[in-house]
Amino acid sequence: MDQQDASSAPGDGAAADEARRAALIDSIPSVDESTPLAAQLAADARRRIDLSGRRFERPATTRILTVANQKGGVGKTTTTVNLAAALAQAGATVLVIDNDPQGNASTALGIDHRAGTPSTYEVLVEDEELAAVVQQSSRIPRLWGAPATIDLSGAEIELVSLVARENRLRNAIDAYLRHREDQGLDRLDYVFIDCPPSLGLLTVNAFVAAREVLIPIQCEYYALEGLSQLLKNVQLIKNHLNPALHVSTILLTMYDARTNLAQQVAAEVREHFPAQTLRTTVPRSVRISEAPSHGQTVMTYDPGSTGALSYLAAARELAERGAPATSDPGARAPQPVTKEN
Ligand code: ADP
Ligand code: MG
Repeated sequence: MDQQDASSAPGDGAAADEARRAALIDSIPSVDESTPLAAQLAADARRRIDLSGRRFERPATTRILTVANQKGGVGKTTTTVNLAAALAQAGATVLVIDNDPQGNASTALGIDHRAGTPSTYEVLVEDEELAAVVQQSSRIPRLWGAPATIDLSGAEIELVSLVARENRLRNAIDAYLRHREDQGLDRLDYVFIDCPPSLGLLTVNAFVAAREVLIPIQCEYYALEGLSQLLKNVQLIKNHLNPALHVSTILLTMYDARTNLAQQVAAEVREHFPAQTLRTTVPRSVRISEAPSHGQTVMTYDPGSTGALSYLAAARELAERGAPATSDPGARAPQPVTKEN
């Protein structure tokens, strides 16, 4: 709210801040590409000045995104937790729902997910309220997580015989949004749902609950294989269960600009999905892969690293695309937080 007011008032502190950032960025000497390391350092410095401490505009209503790709190891979980952390650091209130029995998102968020911890399983299978299972991140106060425990691995089968088996996550999220409103808690700006690498009932629940699908694509051979199946499934859900569902965002991950293959994959994805693909790519980064073993996202583990800055830049793009009064004609209004959703 406050920064929306600030950004709409010209000539105030926000404009002075922009001018200061621009002057600092201009002062960084340009480095030619013959020295890749120096060029990378200069690019990182520019990004750091441009992005650090910046507050992103908040969406007019809660945006619910399912992060999906039925391939494993493409960066779904890494993208979920780091975008969520980056947005929360930039002023948004964010919930991550760990919907993968592996519980990797819970690990990266540093939230308890030992066997027996109230979790997504209880919400989906036992009608527990999300409010009873969400945990607040100890490092980023606006970031919340619903953990996944090993119990969730049985949910795929147990859900089959339950009523409204495809709508259970959606109903739980709706109830939680109302609960926060009733309790006078901050409205959630973003809900990210991290999915397992399959298209079973857990993923169907995530597709029914969300309005947006975010697909991370690893810039490697076979990257596009399976994508058409994923898109077909999104279309099926859209036709039968959730008319609002659409692929809003594609993020290229583990991008290595030095290889022709990565460049080819990126070019092909951008050609097919020009409106959805973020300009920012996330490079392969050791710091990104180390962070979860410290129970952290890279956004707190090493905020100045290339990987963290890339996720921060991607988060800014995501926020700008969904911001109110967007000038992008392809962008759609976020999902309103109303009882009938
Ligand atoms: P998924 O959730 O799709 O299975 P993950 O996000 O768990 O994929 O990523 C798979 C592995 O790759 C993990 O070990 C993760 O730490 C690593 N990884 C993800 N993104 C990057 C990156 N940009 N650079 C280096 N390692 C990465
Ligand atoms: Mg995962």
